[in-house]
Amino acid sequence: MKRLLPCRDCRQPVLWTITEAGKRLPVNPDPDPAGNTAVRCDGTGAWRSRRPTDELPLMAWERLHKPHIATCPTRAQQLPLPVGVTSLAAHRRKRRQTR
Ligand SMILES: [Zn+2]
Repeated sequence: MKRLLPCRDCRQPVLWTITEAGKRLPVNPDPDPAGNTAVRCDGTGAWRSRRPTDELPLMAWERLHKPHIATCPTRAQQLPLPVGVTSLAAHRRKRRQTR
């Protein structure tokens, strides 16, 4: 069961997850194959998120979601480019080049 809470900026319902670093990360509630965040529900009903890596790719029990900040309309107005999105794309490009 997904517990959705409104985004502080745009008031859209978002799924609040806990990252591996213990931080709260809101993601869009519906899975998105273009997302960069693996989301799963742990045994206690908490939603956990992490970045899939080459060593630990997406697992069968995880779904890809987009971090809400990437699509938040209010954030998009405040920031010319969402921070996580561009840096991740650059990171992916860099990683491909080194292989
Ligand atoms: Zn928002």
